[in-house]
Amino acid sequence: MIDLHTHSTASDGRLSPTALVERAAARGVVRLALTDHDTVAGVEEARGAAAACGLDLVAGSEISATWERRTLHVVGLGLDIECQRLADGLRRQQQERATRAREIANRLARIGLRDGLTRAREAAGEGEIGRAHFAGLLVDDGLARNRQDAFKRYLRPGRPGYRRTVWAGLEDVIGWIHAAGGRAVLAHPFGYGFSGAWRQRAVAAFAAAGGDGLEICTGVSTVTQESQSARDARRHGLAGSIGSDFHAPEQFWLDIGRTRRLPDTVPALAFAAAPPA
Ligand code: AMP
Ligand code: MN
Ligand code: MN
Ligand code: MN
Repeated sequence: MIDLHTHSTASDGRLSPTALVERAAARGVVRLALTDHDTVAGVEEARGAAAACGLDLVAGSEISATWERRTLHVVGLGLDIECQRLADGLRRQQQERATRAREIANRLARIGLRDGLTRAREAAGEGEIGRAHFAGLLVDDGLARNRQDAFKRYLRPGRPGYRRTVWAGLEDVIGWIHAAGGRAVLAHPFGYGFSGAWRQRAVAAFAAAGGDGLEICTGVSTVTQESQSARDARRHGLAGSIGSDFHAPEQFWLDIGRTRRLPDTVPALAFAAAPPA
């Protein structure tokens, strides 16, 4: 099994990089990408654990990008984590995350969340802070039934805890990934709540900006969505990628490595750095 999209405590995942790699290996994953939000901080630890389990670890990151006032997620795979241009780009995104967290906390204070910033920082630990950490607090305080409900009520665009963020543009994000010798994949094309027309515009813009691949099979994609994505990928000359978007063992329906295989109508994304699967 191959899984090219997962999260650890370096962002909003529940498992440490080591625990993530061990779970992946135990589930029969032979190639795993760690793709935390706007960071590569967990990669070194994951590499150590992967060497011990004989698993092929792909250095990655899921980078937030702004396109047409909307947020897209770009998964960078096969990254040289020492690359200065990538590091500079990620540092700006991290600063933006910190600023955004402060403003989200201020907004959520108005609906009754106390000490939001301190507690969200504590929940994030050393990792990049994100809306998921605030979702956890809203649930803990009884302001939402579960995380999904917290996003729906408070954290999505148009809701009281949402703060619009201007991330880097698609060309910049793809440029950092390429500078680091990696491949850029547009994550979960059905995960943005777009209409079909908007989805296709986003895929077209991503390809035009130099993107390499489209995430066709995810932990939640349907067969129909996968065949639509395969068609979109072919139309724009993008390769295919697969990734569960695993965050936590509690999401039992979405475990590491649990995706369908890539439809054979689309070529699999190739890496320069990694050995063949
Ligand atoms: P951020 O990058 O901080 O804006 O947070 C994005 C992350 O929030 C995603 O990667 C998911 O982990 C999580 N997320 C987004 N929407 C939802 C939702 N409806 N329910 C649960 N988690 C969500
Ligand atoms: Mn996440
Ligand atoms: Mn995402
Ligand atoms: Mn993700």
